[in-house]
Amino acid sequence: MRLETLKTDGFNTLLGFRLEDGYMIESVHYGETLCVSSQVGCLVGCPFCASGSKGLFRNLSAKEIISQYHLAPKGLQIKRIAFAGIGEPLMNLREVETALKHFRNIGLGATFYTSAHPISMLNKLLDLPHRGVSISLHASDENKRALLVPKGPSIKELFETLSSYLKDKTIRQKKRIRLAYILIKGINDSQSDLEKLADIALSLGLEVNLLKLNPAFGGFEKTSEQTYELSYQILKSKGVRVILSNSFRTRPCGGCGTLLIRGARSQQLSTQAAESEP
Ligand code: SF4
Repeated sequence: MRLETLKTDGFNTLLGFRLEDGYMIESVHYGETLCVSSQVGCLVGCPFCASGSKGLFRNLSAKEIISQYHLAPKGLQIKRIAFAGIGEPLMNLREVETALKHFRNIGLGATFYTSAHPISMLNKLLDLPHRGVSISLHASDENKRALLVPKGPSIKELFETLSSYLKDKTIRQKKRIRLAYILIKGINDSQSDLEKLADIALSLGLEVNLLKLNPAFGGFEKTSEQTYELSYQILKSKGVRVILSNSFRTRPCGGCGTLLIRGARSQQLSTQAAESEP
């Protein structure tokens, strides 16, 4: 595996790695965080995310996950790892866990983003020594959830799993788990969507990470600043703790949902047929 491409916009640095079997994957550095990939592609198929647009080709090994850090240019300051690049960490949890242990051994804490697919693995991830897990909810009714996180568990399944997991957890433990909600114009940003989201978050006792869409892929539009502010106010007025989006995720260079795989040819594991190659 080698670092093959490096692109920066002055804030984010996009790293492209060539794997031994020819695939290219990407990682992104922002602030003091390196956001690493855990799979070649993704099966979950969120329609606003380029990373899963060709389906899943294979899992990354722990070594390939770790190497994204060790092959990054030494000039990049990296104090933490985010498992939030290409792929669903839950689908490759054994290798992800090995990589997490390595990162901890060299003094790097790690956070996770997960769609919660497969739901049977969620508790195991939540029990790992992480610095925070954001569970991508993105919808507060089942139809929109099925549209935005197609292979993810339903809200009902997610709610039941989380309620049972959280029932004996302390407030401090709960604070390390968040619901991520990406606001998409005209899709999930109405007052009623936000009110239902507030009910879910309050019932579970979890914070909401209110995210801005990076509209680089999928033809969806970003919610206006006014609606973003209003959404925040609706959640706050209901008593929900809200974490606001950071600007790194919406940048064109390596922003969320823009990381790509290349070199994918015939070994696709997804049930969907591969699109033509770039
Ligand atoms: S947002 Fe995450 S889970 Fe959804 S397709 Fe992209 S990489 Fe996969």
